[in-house]
Amino acid sequence: MEVVLCGVDGSELHMYKGEMAWVNEQAPVVFGDEIIGRVSSIGADAKACRGLDVGDLVTVESRWPCEGCRTCDTGQYYLCEKRNVFTGYGTLPMSHAPGLWGGYATHVFVPEYALAYKVPEGLSERTALIACSPLANGIRWVEKGGTKPGDHVAVIGPGTQGLACALAAVRLGAKVTLIGLEADCERLEVAKGFGVFHTVAMERGETVDVTIRRIQEAAGDVDVVVETAGAGTAKKLALELVRPLGTVVNVSVTTPAEQPVDWPSLIQREVTLVNPLSHPGAVDRAFELAQELLADGIDIGEWITHVYGLEEADKAIEAAAYKLDVRPVKVALQPR
Ligand SMILES: [Zn+2]
Repeated sequence: MEVVLCGVDGSELHMYKGEMAWVNEQAPVVFGDEIIGRVSSIGADAKACRGLDVGDLVTVESRWPCEGCRTCDTGQYYLCEKRNVFTGYGTLPMSHAPGLWGGYATHVFVPEYALAYKVPEGLSERTALIACSPLANGIRWVEKGGTKPGDHVAVIGPGTQGLACALAAVRLGAKVTLIGLEADCERLEVAKGFGVFHTVAMERGETVDVTIRRIQEAAGDVDVVVETAGAGTAKKLALELVRPLGTVVNVSVTTPAEQPVDWPSLIQREVTLVNPLSHPGAVDRAFELAQELLADGIDIGEWITHVYGLEEADKAIEAAAYKLDVRPVKVALQPR
C-alpha cells in the first residue's frame, strides 16, 4: 500500500526521544498507525477475497486477529493473546520481514490477516484519516461508557481524540462538556462548531474543585467522563467529577507516579471505571458517521491543520506535541 497520509500523535514525541521502554525494546520500528493509502500491488487471491484493486483508497487497522485466541475470538484483536499488544503498525520491529510496518514511510505491507477497508466514495483522504482511527476510537469509547441520549458527558482533553469522543457523544444525543487548558482555545473552538453544550478552559493553577464547580454550575451533574488527556490532574478531575453511579472511561496513559486513584471514593460513589483499548470493529461505522457529518456540513478532515513531508517527520512530531510555535489541531505526514 502506498501511504498517502499518516496521522501524527503528540505522544510519539516520547517514543521518538526513547522515553518509552516498550518501544525501545521493539526498535528500530517505523512509526505511524493511522494510515490512509492506495493499493499499489495485490495478489490474485487477496484481490478476490477483499474486493480491492490497485489504486483503491484504503485504510488498514493497526492490529489484526490471529488464527484464533480468546480475545481475538471475542472481537478484541487489539489484545491478541498469541502475539501481544505491540504486534502491529508502528510497533512491529523492522527486523520482522518485510519491515514495512509503519505509516511514516512511502509504503506499508498489508499481511494476510490485516483488516483493510476501502474508503467510501465522497470521503477525502483527510476526512478518512480522522475517521479511520480517532473517530472510530471515539465511537467505541463513548459507547463503552454506557452513554445514553440525554446523558451529560464530560470529555477531558481537546486533542483530536478528545474532539472525536465529544463529537461521537454529541451524535449519540448526549449533552457534552469539553474541558481543556487556556492554551487549547483553537481546539475548544472547533468543538463549538459541532454542537458541544459547553467548553471549559482551565486557568493556570486552577484547582480541580473549582473546575468541577464551574462544570456543574453550567451543565449539571456528569454521568460519563471520558479522560483523554493523560496528566495526573486530568485523572483526578475525572474521578472526582463523575456523579455517584456514573462511569469514567480511561483511555490515556502517563507514568504510574502521576496517576492517583482514590479507591475508597470510587466505592463510596459506586463509580464504574472502564479502560477500552482502541477500536476493534468500529472503522466501518466511523466511515458511515463521517459521511453523515459531511451531509450535515461538518467535515472532520478540517481538523488536520498541519501537514508535513516525510523528511520533516521530526518537526511534525514536535508540532503535534506543542513544541513548536504552532497550535495544530491534528498533524499529518504526506509522504508523496
Ligand atoms: Zn489472537
